[in-house]
Amino acid sequence: MRENARARRIRPRAGTSGQHVVELADGSSIEGEVIELNVGRTAAPALSALDLAKAGVNHDGGDWLAVDDRLRAADRVYGVGDCIDREMSTHLGHYEGETAVKVALGDDVRADFSAVPRAVYTDPKPPRLASWSIRQSRRASTPTRRPRTSRRARRVT
Ligand SMILES: Cc1cc2nc3c(=O)[nH]c(=O)nc-3n(C[C@H](O)[C@H](O)[C@H](O)COP(=O)(O)OP(=O)(O)OC[C@H]3O[C@@H](n4cnc5c(N)ncnc54)[C@H](O)[C@@H]3O)c2cc1C
Repeated sequence: MRENARARRIRPRAGTSGQHVVELADGSSIEGEVIELNVGRTAAPALSALDLAKAGVNHDGGDWLAVDDRLRAADRVYGVGDCIDREMSTHLGHYEGETAVKVALGDDVRADFSAVPRAVYTDPKPPRLASWSIRQSRRASTPTRRPRTSRRARRVT
């Protein structure tokens, strides 16, 4: 694992055994059979452009809206998905959306983030229980069993 390493150039299949070679900014290089490119994202510009203060929503200019345990950002305004400070995944976004609709319709429900399953779209597909929820559970001193994942699944995620 290399941190803060900047890739300068990729030479496909140029390695000793036909692996891909990634040249790093410090002059070193690494070889690998698979290159996984992850695209980052930020919600701050989109949130800032919405002029949320007009709807009574506090937004500090960052990537997340503060919501309570019923996902309310303000009166009759809900935050779900990547724009709130929770695990960012399709499935959790669906769950949050469904929960917010239930709250809006008057159901006495709260969003429960005590265990958050996640599917990472790769080929092959490794399942995983999000480490975020494990850390949260530990902080709350709730006994939690670490999920059994294969060495390969841990490496891929
Ligand atoms: C590269 C990548 C890989 C990912 N892989 C996985 C994965 O393997 N598994 C997984 O579970 N999740 C994955 N995710 C995360 C998943 O895509 C997000 O968590 C999920 O899409 C969040 O849903 P959302 O509805 O909050 O936001 P989005 O899906 O981003 O939807 C927001 C929508 O709002 C629209 N919008 C923005 N501003 C405005 C505006 N001013 N007016 C109107 N519309 C606006 C956007 O165009 C967009 O359609 C991945 C994300 C990325 C970027």
